[in-house]
Amino acid sequence: MIEKILNIFKRKTEQEENPEIKITPRTLVVLCGVAGSGKSTFAKKFFKRTQIVSSDNCRAVISDNPANQAVSKHAFDLFYFIIEKRLLVGRLTVADATSLSKETRRQLIEIARKYGFKVVIIIFDIPLEICIERDQKRPRKVGEQVIRNQYINFLEAKKSIPTEGFDEIFILNEKTLDTATVRIIPPYTTSNNSASL
Ligand code: GDP
Ligand code: MG
Repeated sequence: MIEKILNIFKRKTEQEENPEIKITPRTLVVLCGVAGSGKSTFAKKFFKRTQIVSSDNCRAVISDNPANQAVSKHAFDLFYFIIEKRLLVGRLTVADATSLSKETRRQLIEIARKYGFKVVIIIFDIPLEICIERDQKRPRKVGEQVIRNQYINFLEAKKSIPTEGFDEIFILNEKTLDTATVRIIPPYTTSNNSASL
């Protein structure tokens, strides 16, 4: 039943030409896609900088290098920690990481549930070759082989996500990545939805 409902959401965003992603303020927005699929660009287009918690930024905060894979464990500790603190004080948050592993998604869902937040996922379903090409054009490259390996995990993730407990699933493809919009309802303010501490 739940799977059926999620599939309706999925079909909805997939079929619309100009999908509107409606989000309530007490929501954790999880992004999911390989490197180069446009996650950070999309997040910056629709959300405030402070609403975006990025695993690459966490790597940089710890080690001065956003690509430093050697500090991944500590970077992710920080990533979950910041997200948890934001949800604790009632703030809309975007988790900007590949979220290709089930464990990452499970932890994000768990944090959201703990604070009574909705948790939605935006899947960046962009063809592998485009991601590789876009990665090659940017200053900080992840590299073709890494993206190919990530893509295998991405295909697994796409299959698994409908059964994992997300409240809504939005799928963006090559076309809708440019045309999709995000609307926060009711409009987000700095004072609403804050927990009393
Ligand atoms: P991420 O690794 O998933 O966070 O991807 P980024 O947001 O960093 O985007 C990777 C590259 O693709 C960047 O150089 C972006 O400028 C470019 N890019 C992102 N979104 C789009 C898009 O919708 N159209 C085009 N043409 N390029 C994009
Ligand atoms: Mg990024």
